[in-house]
Amino acid sequence: MVHAPNPPPPGAPPVRINLYSDTQTRPTRGMREAMAMAEVGDEQNGDDPTVNRLQDRMAALLGKEAALFLPSGTMCNVAAVLTHCRPGDEILGHETCHILTSEGGAHGALAGVQITPLRGPRGLFDAEAVRAALRVKRRHSPPQTLLEVEQTANIGGGTIWPLDQLNAVADVAHEAGMATHMDGARLLNATVASGIDAATMAARYDSVWLDFTKGLGAPVGAVLAGSAEFIDAAWRWKQRLGGAMRQAGVIAAACLYALDHHVERLAEDHANARLLAEGLAAIPGVAVERPDTNLVFFDPAGAGMSAADLQSALRLRGILVSGLGGRLRACLHLDVSRAEVEEALGAAREVLGRG
Ligand SMILES: *Cc1c(COP(=O)(O)O)cnc(C)c1O
Repeated sequence: MVHAPNPPPPGAPPVRINLYSDTQTRPTRGMREAMAMAEVGDEQNGDDPTVNRLQDRMAALLGKEAALFLPSGTMCNVAAVLTHCRPGDEILGHETCHILTSEGGAHGALAGVQITPLRGPRGLFDAEAVRAALRVKRRHSPPQTLLEVEQTANIGGGTIWPLDQLNAVADVAHEAGMATHMDGARLLNATVASGIDAATMAARYDSVWLDFTKGLGAPVGAVLAGSAEFIDAAWRWKQRLGGAMRQAGVIAAACLYALDHHVERLAEDHANARLLAEGLAAIPGVAVERPDTNLVFFDPAGAGMSAADLQSALRLRGILVSGLGGRLRACLHLDVSRAEVEEALGAAREVLGRG
């Protein structure tokens, strides 16, 4: 049986404070109005003016020649891998990366590639780890064709890759004849938190994409960018995967609205993440990882309660967090206020007997 995430414990009330994921944001009134008013056309014929505007804007933002609107971040990764790789190829990525852990085995099933996990703290690896994974090019070796990084590294802790480390691993890959791909699901969180613009971060990456359904708060959509030639080839995969749409301006309008209204405010999520992390760390025995952006990972084991038990106890108080790899994750986003963070902290203190 395949499990849905987080079945609520019996007797749980409706969720009031949703720290499960920034994917659970609801489109705001302003966003819905922008969607209702969107100019539209047949997207797969290149005739949707709103989609075209979004793609042009994203190509500029990410510093690439061209961009392609797709229904999801997963489809961005799948289309990119299908474009960069051939069946039998090998991809290098962190052991916790989304393409390896969270895409249903898509890259094996659809692209016929293998992903070799690299290790390193907080979802990052260094140039040395890439060098150590390079194979002698010979008949027996799988062709190593793609290096993948996640900015921010999700399971790593919402970690921001430092620019010099991003550049260094890309340089090793390029010298070895590999292409480079950046999973930028939360790239703008990294940009807002570090002050380094997205194009600079992605400069040494042949392809990069951004998700609109995470902290940016749109209901559907992600945009993949790269060279004109790369995007042309990716278009064919979009068509083959069933990602070519029709009057998609209705959803692209939400993404444009998010670019105008929901980027700078990511700083509030980061401030709320710090507030939550500091409050949790002040509870004796709770281990908290320092958040770089909007994700807070913590483990209450040292306070005498398992992560799963704390998750259930919070859920019984209407507070939803996710469990990831034996730890808990709280995700801050535009539907969680500072007051709600304080309330969640109060609940955690109470449950752990420190209230
Ligand atoms: C959410 C996420 C994805 C997948 O995006 P969807 O839009 O949910 O398909 C890929 N990579 C990372 C790092 C993510 O957090």
